Amino acid sequence: MALKIMIAPVTAYQQNCSILICTETQKAALVDPGGEADRLKQTLTENNLTLEKIFITHGHLDHAGAAKQIAEDLNVPIEGPHEGDKYWLDDLEQYAQMMQFPPTRNFNPDRWLVDGDTIKFGNITLNVIHCPGHTPGHVVFYYPAAQVAFVGDVIFQGSIGRTDFPGGNHDDLITSIRSKLFTLGDDIQFVPGHGPTSTFGQERQTNPFVADSKYG
Ligand SMILES: [Zn+2]
Ligand SMILES: [Zn+2]
Repeated sequence: MALKIMIAPVTAYQQNCSILICTETQKAALVDPGGEADRLKQTLTENNLTLEKIFITHGHLDHAGAAKQIAEDLNVPIEGPHEGDKYWLDDLEQYAQMMQFPPTRNFNPDRWLVDGDTIKFGNITLNVIHCPGHTPGHVVFYYPAAQVAFVGDVIFQGSIGRTDFPGGNHDDLITSIRSKLFTLGDDIQFVPGHGPTSTFGQERQTNPFVADSKYG
C-alpha cells in the first residue's frame, strides 16, 4: 500500500489535519492545514518528507487557516476547495480576528476543484467528490485503492456538519452524504475534520442524522 496517513489535530478546534504520505517516493500532501504551520512543517522535516501539495476540503478557518503560509514557505500549490467557497477564503483574516485565532492570510487556491476531478501527489491519485451542504464548495477526497475518504466537515462519527452558517443547506448535506458518499460502499473508512474515524457502513447503521432507518 503506497499511502500512509498521519493525523495531526490543529487549532483550538482540534481539526484533523491529515498528512498523506506516498511511501514509494516520500512525498507528502497536507489535507486541511487549519493552523499551527510551524508544527506541521516540523513534523514533515522530522519524518523526512517532501511536501508536494496542500489540499483543502472547504473554506473554513480551522481547515484552511495555515494553507497560505505553508504554501509560501515550502513553495507548493494549494488545490481545492470548489469555487463555491471563495467567499469564506476571502474573509479568513476577518474570521481569525473574530474567533481569536492567530493571524492568517486570505487566499485563492492555485486550482479550484469540481466534482470528478482527480488530485495527485507522489504516486497517489485521489478522486474529488463535490459534497455541498456544510458549505457550498465543500469537496471530499477519496482514495479507492485504500478505501479511505477525507470528508472534512460533511460527516462525523455519529453526527453531520453544521448547516447554520451563511451558505449552509441541510437538504444538500443529506443528499451529499447519502447519494455521493454512502454509495461508495460500507467498507470505506473516513477521516472527518474533527473527532474519530469511522466507516460509511457504521454511519448508515447508527448515525441518527443520516441512518438508513431514517431514510430507507
Ligand atoms: Zn467547517
Ligand atoms: Zn471544522
